[in-house]
Amino acid sequence: MSIVVKQSESLLSESKKYLAGGVASTLRASMKPTPLFAEAGSGPRVRDVDGNEYIDYLLAYGPLILGHAHPSLAEGLNDALKRGVTFGLQHTGEIELAKLLTEILPCADRVALSGSGTEAVMLALRLSRAYTGRTKVIRFHGHFHGWSDAIFTSFPSADMKQSETASAGAVPPGTGGQSENSLQDIILLPWNDIDALEETLRREKDSIAAVITEPIMCNNGCIHPMPGYLERMRELTEEFGIVMIMDEVITGFRLGLGGAHGKLGLKPDLVTIGKAMGGGIAISGVAGKADIMAMIEKGTVGHLGTLNGNVAATSAALATLRELAKDGGSVYGKMERTADLLVQGINSLFEKHRVPGLVNQAGPVFHVMFTSEEKVENFDAFNKRDAAKYSRFAELMLAEGVLIRPSGLWYVSAVHGEDEVRATLTSVDRVLANL
Ligand code: PLP
Repeated sequence: MSIVVKQSESLLSESKKYLAGGVASTLRASMKPTPLFAEAGSGPRVRDVDGNEYIDYLLAYGPLILGHAHPSLAEGLNDALKRGVTFGLQHTGEIELAKLLTEILPCADRVALSGSGTEAVMLALRLSRAYTGRTKVIRFHGHFHGWSDAIFTSFPSADMKQSETASAGAVPPGTGGQSENSLQDIILLPWNDIDALEETLRREKDSIAAVITEPIMCNNGCIHPMPGYLERMRELTEEFGIVMIMDEVITGFRLGLGGAHGKLGLKPDLVTIGKAMGGGIAISGVAGKADIMAMIEKGTVGHLGTLNGNVAATSAALATLRELAKDGGSVYGKMERTADLLVQGINSLFEKHRVPGLVNQAGPVFHVMFTSEEKVENFDAFNKRDAAKYSRFAELMLAEGVLIRPSGLWYVSAVHGEDEVRATLTSVDRVLANL
């Protein structure tokens, strides 16, 4: 089966004349057979400019937790459009949203609002340094915390094994144009290795401001923390007065209303949130302990942004979070059941076609891999997958009318249901037979 994407191809050529690279975010350029131009989306489906319709598991890289054009989100945004989308003044929507966030996120005494996950991470790092008076930050291989110079590193690096530790000053930059000095204070450690963490913390505790971690390594393999790992991280950071930042830009409002830390019953000092928070409208935030967040009130930490907390963004976030909270958050059970059906189906089809592969799942988000590994529990194991084969799989799935990320991460929304699951598994069956 092939797919006609002539309009997308021709629009990409046109776009390249004016838009640097032809796409607005570098990652999007890797889509095969071509970066698609969207026409419209409805519920779990999206249509491109060539008239092809897809069941959408890309979900805009995560934010579309209510699917496309959800009526509650549209209503919230329409109200904002009528009132004025932004003022650069305070408005009650900010209070309503901040109050709601302190109610649903267990670690949140106070929140600060920004526009993107990258900005939220920048603020969390700044708060940590101001609060502790220290500068170094521990981050982990395979985790992604946005693309700011302060934290963006290359994965996997040609220069080092993933299991190795990189001390401050030796962490490779993630992109051309990034000063190596910007990562001067970053220590890179293997994740899920409590000994490596404990040893580094004990050795350098007096200079470490923060440890930043995804609660589940969603960006590279949906890898879960080993039992007790995050709990021990919490104990050690507390013991040494180091700020523990949980980057919940993916997991926030996705694994449950209270995010991963709510599910785990663990209180980091700060969490970063974004993506699903606004249902597709740009909004992010940092939430956490009052005495750390007080750095903003005291004026020690500058937190700026022309459009921070704008009416359109706060309305979208309020509409999205209220929709997710309906009926005691029963939508989370629904999303998880849908994802379970997909994961079980894909695993059975791997067996049926004798294709070596596995799926790591975290509720409504999961990572599909072609690999001979029995388990993928760390970044080294993840890097043994056949990424080229998966990219081909994604391209063939697209021709079947199923949109998935070429990297392997699937998102399920509140409006995906059994019809989508059935059609998707039929496509997976056909594609695996021809792969
Ligand atoms: N943190 C995590 C865990 C992410 O997955 C991402 C984006 O994928 C970010 C931060 C950066 O968010 P944004 O792309 O909104 O800047």
